Amino acid sequence: MAFETLNGIVLRYVDYRDNDRILTVLEREKGLVTVTARGVRSKSSTASGLVRDAYCYGEFVVYERSGIEYVSSSSIIEAFYPMREDYSRLVAAAQAAHIAEKLASNHAGGELFSLLYHAFSFIAYGSADPADILLCYTAKCLCLAGYEPMLTSCVACRKSVTGQKTVAFSNQQGGALCDDCDPGETRYPAIVLEAIRRMIRLTPAQMDRVRLPEEVRSALDKLLFDYAEYVLEQPIRLKNSKHLQ
Ligand SMILES: [Zn+2]
Repeated sequence: MAFETLNGIVLRYVDYRDNDRILTVLEREKGLVTVTARGVRSKSSTASGLVRDAYCYGEFVVYERSGIEYVSSSSIIEAFYPMREDYSRLVAAAQAAHIAEKLASNHAGGELFSLLYHAFSFIAYGSADPADILLCYTAKCLCLAGYEPMLTSCVACRKSVTGQKTVAFSNQQGGALCDDCDPGETRYPAIVLEAIRRMIRLTPAQMDRVRLPEEVRSALDKLLFDYAEYVLEQPIRLKNSKHLQ
């Protein structure tokens, strides 16, 4: 039997049979993989240090049988434990994991893994608001997926929009519209677009530098998630806590 070692973050799981669990994992290099961990819900396994929970980074030794990857053994590399004790941190982590899964079908691990790993580290251990980390992560994920928005000039006529107090944003065209080209799109304070521009220039390791005023945070949340749902053509927002694992 050929064994393979995988390193990845558990995005979610589904319980299966009496004691088994099917884990959806963002693997460091391979991207999205699904592995079946047998017996991990049994009483004897609970305190064993096996990787069994969502949002946990672990190493898995797996083997394949009949097209299914089974976990032979696993160990926790990083549990991001403080995330599980704080509701706002947990909600941000769940949303970040959800976005990673939506994007992962078109991407190998690599940069997406690095983004999620850094986001989880800051959400768990950082001093920045978890909501700010999530917004920065989301903006960077959109760029990674090829949807970097045009922010300083009009996406239709290329005129600079930097002198405007408020700026229209077109999900369809992927960026700012000047007042002449705006057919009546949602308008945002210019500072909101400037915040996105700054966030996408940060490296993953710098994401905890973001500190957003409350009014910018809520407008940015609307812009980024509306835009993400438009370009990815599916719901991205987690609407309630039933997704928390
Ligand atoms: Zn224009």
